[in-house]
Amino acid sequence: MTHIDVAKAAGLSETDLTGGSLAVHSPIDGAEVARIKATDPAEMPAIIARSQSAFKTWRNLPAPRRGELVRLIGEELRAAKEELGALVTLEAGKIRSEGLGEVQEMIDICDFAVGLSRQLYGLTIASERAGHKMSETWHPMGPCGVISAFNFPVAVWSWNAALALVCGNPVIWKPSEKTPLTAMATMKIVERALARFGDDAPDGLLQLIIGGAEIGEALAISKDVPILSATGSTRMGSIVGPAVMSRWGRPILELGGNNAMVVAPSADIDMAVRAIIFSAVGTAGQRCTSLRRLIVHKSVKDGLVDRLVKAYASLPIGDPREAGTLVGPLVDAASRDAMLRALEVAKSEGGTVFGGTAVTEGVPKGGAYVVPAIALMPAQTDIVKAETFAPILYVMEYEALEDAIALQNNVPQGLSSCIFTLNMREAETFLSAQGSDCGIANVNIGPSGAEIGGAFGGEKQTGGGRESGSDAWKGYMRRQTSTVNYSAELPLAQGVKFDL
Ligand code: NAD
Repeated sequence: MTHIDVAKAAGLSETDLTGGSLAVHSPIDGAEVARIKATDPAEMPAIIARSQSAFKTWRNLPAPRRGELVRLIGEELRAAKEELGALVTLEAGKIRSEGLGEVQEMIDICDFAVGLSRQLYGLTIASERAGHKMSETWHPMGPCGVISAFNFPVAVWSWNAALALVCGNPVIWKPSEKTPLTAMATMKIVERALARFGDDAPDGLLQLIIGGAEIGEALAISKDVPILSATGSTRMGSIVGPAVMSRWGRPILELGGNNAMVVAPSADIDMAVRAIIFSAVGTAGQRCTSLRRLIVHKSVKDGLVDRLVKAYASLPIGDPREAGTLVGPLVDAASRDAMLRALEVAKSEGGTVFGGTAVTEGVPKGGAYVVPAIALMPAQTDIVKAETFAPILYVMEYEALEDAIALQNNVPQGLSSCIFTLNMREAETFLSAQGSDCGIANVNIGPSGAEIGGAFGGEKQTGGGRESGSDAWKGYMRRQTSTVNYSAELPLAQGVKFDL
């Protein structure tokens, strides 16, 4: 199938793919797939006004009825999984199973949100005053902007949109300018669900805007977009976060990670090797939760590194559409160049590098393919503390667990972390208040590939936002505390007397 055929199979028409000024390239071979129309910044006020107007209707619909729309979106996604997954592969360069896995994640969050639509629970609270009832209720907030990154071109939208919709909020989505086609194809799927849902869905409930930073900034500065969920680099978050807060909006920030694994002396090394390889080279190191730092006990380091270097030497690198490929391309040449530069810096900081070269033979021409790198570092130097969005695994050694935890925590980011150990004391210490400072901390499982049932996000420069499962839905609603006096008296709290 040609690139165009893949895009058309996912529901895009000739008109969708031509006639615009934004060129879309496939990381597989760098070929231009489409030239699409970008949103004119001048249209943004009208788009946001449409969303505000949709809010006035949508917020009044009972939440389980709102959940019905999400159920239909999930059903349509199931029907379109193959085609949308193939388009994710084409546009983001993910291997086939990861492209399909991304769509499965969308389906899973829809299922989760449908259940949630009957469980937006508040509280009743014991009042200190006789004849009084206190309660807490959760209400819709208003339009929710979603800015997403190229590496999860569709799943990030669904984590936000499925929750926002059942919570009573319209959504305006600005995908990465590198991956607009998957977003457009997702909106076609959404349109089918909306048609089946009927008239209860107001115009402007789910909108898509196409473009770069300037369009995202229009969402960030508009006081009519009370929630802005932004996924991407810490650099982007450092602009968007303060802009949203300066007009008293609520940012949900999901930014860069620098994820580590501690491998203790008792670790099951076979399991650790499998977990390291999946999490360090999967998606060519372009997951926010990719494993970037390996902190290994001195007693097991040499054996583990030997096994990793051997395994890395036989990694199937190439066309992500081919069965058997495990490492597809980086998103573009700039990303490859950033990786090669980081490895030069690592060497200048005392590192010894295995792999980490560009691949041009046996891969589609025009794509940015690389051999994943292992860099043995003498210490946690500056380059190790930075997120390079490519498959580089920095290896450091430790002797005492507290030193390993200190190394794990001593980076600006705080997304995901894990420990491999069979020692219960070590495992529990890692998960305790004196352990990992990340939003995600695992035992005997790698840092990447989270399930949607848990809250997803991280601390420090990762931004502090939470999405997806657990009670992340509360980030999309406003909390109201109410006291009702059903007595014939007016007692004041804290025993205050104020009698005329
Ligand atoms: P990026 O920051 O370049 O772009 C992300 C999105 O932000 C894009 O839609 C882009 O157009 C938009 N954007 C950029 N500047 C903006 C601005 N000034 N105002 C408004 N919008 C702006 O990131 P990327 O290269 O697409 O993605 C990779 C990064 O995303 C990595 O750092 C990765 O760790 C991070 N990421 C984090 C998570 C998470 O959940 N924590 C998930 C996926 C990716």
